[in-house]
Parts: sequence; C-alpha cells; structure tokens
Amino acid sequence: MPEFRLYNTLSRAVEPFAPADGETVRLYTCGPTVYNPAHLGNFRTFLFEDLMRRALRLRGWKVEQVMNLTDVDDKIIKRATEQGKTIIEVTDPIVTIFHEDRKYLRIEDAEHYPRATAYIPEMIALVEKLIANGVAYQAEDGSVYFAIGKFPMYGRLSRLDTREIQSGARVAQDDYSKENAQDFALWKAAKPEDEACGAAWDSPWGRGRPGWHLECSAMAMAILGETLDLHAGGIDLVFPHHEDEIAQSEAATGKPFARCWCHGEFLLTDGAKMAKRVGNVQNVADLRANGVSGAAVRHFVFSTHYRKQLNLAGEALEGSMEAVRRVADFAERLKEAKGGTRALEDAADLLENQVRTALFDDLNAPNAMAALFDFIRAANKELDSGGSDAGALRRAREVFAMVDGVFELVPDRRTADAAFAEWVERQLEDRKAARARRDFAAADAIRKSLEEKGVVIEDTAAGTKWKAR
Ligand code: AMP
Ligand code: ZN
Repeated sequence: MPEFRLYNTLSRAVEPFAPADGETVRLYTCGPTVYNPAHLGNFRTFLFEDLMRRALRLRGWKVEQVMNLTDVDDKIIKRATEQGKTIIEVTDPIVTIFHEDRKYLRIEDAEHYPRATAYIPEMIALVEKLIANGVAYQAEDGSVYFAIGKFPMYGRLSRLDTREIQSGARVAQDDYSKENAQDFALWKAAKPEDEACGAAWDSPWGRGRPGWHLECSAMAMAILGETLDLHAGGIDLVFPHHEDEIAQSEAATGKPFARCWCHGEFLLTDGAKMAKRVGNVQNVADLRANGVSGAAVRHFVFSTHYRKQLNLAGEALEGSMEAVRRVADFAERLKEAKGGTRALEDAADLLENQVRTALFDDLNAPNAMAALFDFIRAANKELDSGGSDAGALRRAREVFAMVDGVFELVPDRRTADAAFAEWVERQLEDRKAARARRDFAAADAIRKSLEEKGVVIEDTAAGTKWKAR
C-alpha cells in the first residue's frame, strides 16, 4: 500500500503521516461560528475535511473527529444584542440549519460536535493552569491575557518574524492581524451587553466569557487528549487562531498540541474570497433553489486540490451537474449488468490503485476523480461488448463502491429530481406571467434557459407540460 502523506503547515512540507497509536486518527476540525448559516466557502473547508476522514479510513485507520460549534464569540454577541435575543436563541436554529446543510452536501457525521458553552469549566481550568505556569495574567481591564513574550515558540506555525511580535501590548478582539501580534485575551471581563444576552459566567477573575481561541484548545484536549494527530481548518485560521491554540495548549501541557496541521485554501466568488464581509456569499439554500445536488457540489470542490484556490464563477457548477449525471447513469448500468470481461476487471484493479495512490499523496482528489472518469469510459465500453464473467463484474462493482464511498458522486435521484422539478415549475410560472403581460421576449428567454438545462416544454390546451431529456 502506498505511504500516506500530508502537507504539514508546521514544516511547510509534504510528510509521511500515521496516527500516533497506529490505529485511530484523532482529528480536530474548527467548526462554524453559528450566527448565520454557513456559506459555501465554509463548506469548501468542511468538504476537504470530509475527504480527509474518508481517505484516512480508506487507508485502514479509524477516525475520531471533533468539529466544534462556536456558540459564543464577538459576532454572536453582536447579533444577539441587535436582535434583542439571548445567544442561545441566536445559535440554536443555526445549528439545526448547519446539520441539514451538511447532510445535503453528504458530509459525514463527525464523532463529536461540542458546543463551546458546554465546556466553560474546562476553559476556566485551562486559564488557571496558564496563570500558574506564569504565561497568563489578569490586566487592569479585568480580562486575562496570554503573555506571548513568555512563550518562545510563539509565531512558529505562521512564521511570524520576532519584529512583529509585540509582547506587553494587548489585543482584546477575537480576530486580529499579524501587525497586531500582541498579548491576546483568554478570558474577557463581562460587559453589560454580555450579561444581557446570557454570554457571561462566573470565574476566579469575576464574571466573563472565553476568548474564541481558548474554546478550541479546551474542547480539543478535553475530548481527544493533549496531543492530537491532526488539526485542520481553513487557511485564514493559521494566524491568529491556530497560533494562539498552540500557545495556550503547549504552554499548559508542555507537550506538542498537534502532530500535523492541515489547511485548506479559499473558495472565491469571481476572484474574491467568499465572505460575509465582502457580501458575495452563497449558501446551501441557494443550491437547493437552483436544483444543484450535493453530489454536484462535491464534484466541483474535489476537482481542485484542497491547497489551491477555487473560483465559483457563473456556470462553474453546470459542468459538475453533467458529470455526476454521467456517474449516476454508469452506477445504474453497473447494477443492471449481467456480466463483465477480463478487461473490465483490469480497469477496476487500475482504478483502485490510482485512487489510493492519488488520495494518499496529500489528498489528490482531482487525480483520483480523473481516474474514476477514465474507468467509467473504459467500463462502459466493456459493458457494451457484453461479457459474461461474473467475477469481473463483482470486482468492478466492489471497486466502484469503494471509490464512490469516498467521493459520493452518485446523486440521490429523489432529492436532486425534486429540487429540479421545483425549479422548472417556478420557471414555468414566470413564463406564464410574462406571456400574460405580453412580454414575449422574456417568455422566450425562459424557454431557452429551460432548453439549455435539457427541459422540453409543450403548450397544450390543458396547460404547459414539460419533460427532462
Ligand atoms: P467561521 O464560521 O468563520 O469560523 O469559519 C468556519 C471555517 O470556514 C473555517 O475553517 C474557515 O477557515 C473556513 N472559511 C471561511 N471562509 C472561507 C472561504 N471563502 N473558503 C474556504 N474556507 C473558508
Ligand atoms: Zn479552532
């Protein structure tokens, strides 16, 4: 079996990877901040982590994954204050949407989804340890800060230059830039608005709440132990979030916090990072409305290596919708076939090899998917020739199932078809309205866009009928 290798942000190199105990990979993934439904940029990162856990299992390891839900932070408190709600009233419905959206994209269940607010005692204990170790202090503002000058390894992950490290100066907000590499808040003294929305707890330093970075360190170590095998997230988390997670955890335990750090690149929209701030976000609700299946999104995301930027432009998803239709047709055909050929069996062996080689080489999904489409082409040809080898057919089915167990590209026909039918019906309504107001140009444009999606319509006395090619 080929060696499993991953790019480790700590060393900036692709390195051999194996879990410390040789059996179970302890994986921590920074999850969503639940104040708004996650956008497709967030989901690109969660899909990369889904691919990672499936590839690790393909290698024969078990995976124990934690994905935290950040349900208390600056942004959530701001939202709760604006809406006159408690933080739980803001976060609860968003957690439900997160899991629905995640299932739509066929992202497997992680083993644990801890909420930050359920781990306050662990967070307080961690801060106490840091104070006892002399690397944290309570400042005049009542908040507790991490003293980066007392932790010589500070800046190692993000390769901060010592000139950029300003020890003694303090930064209170959760997210800050490299130019502000200062002592950061572990525990923030409660303000009236924190109390008002239920975001304050008792602590040895008075009422307050945890900083964002502290949440992840406490939950990761509470559930997975002091040294993780793998820690993953989006590339924007390298600094300050992961740098600070390392500082807090290692200064408390004296042990390495994670053996390997993996970061996925951004999803862009027309060239700009997809982000709430930029105002260019799309989410799963938009996909559903446009009849784009989770399978098609998976194809789109896995077509680019996770360490390269991926641009979602105009028609980008349409090619993926077509591609997964091809996979679905093939799956159907393979199910119904009566026998295979020697060449079919050879193609299956080749596919298994190529997929393992590609995925174990720093999760090279684009190469693995290319191998799958080569296989489909070759196998279709063999099935045309109508062989009768039952063993060959069995082998083809087994390897195809294994590969689709990683990518999950066979669309669930019911979900995809229902969403598509809804979209077509809405288009027909719009067309009817356009005709009623004698806007025939608009009506024709709708007919044309339906035709481009393979929908043929027929106007009859009983109304408009349609069928998909
Ligand atoms: P947040 O909910 O903001 O804490 O982000 C959750 C995850 O999504 C983090 O791992 C981020 O790095 C990641 N993320 C945010 N924006 C993007 C983007 N445009 N492309 C890829 N990942 C992103
Ligand atoms: Zn985190």
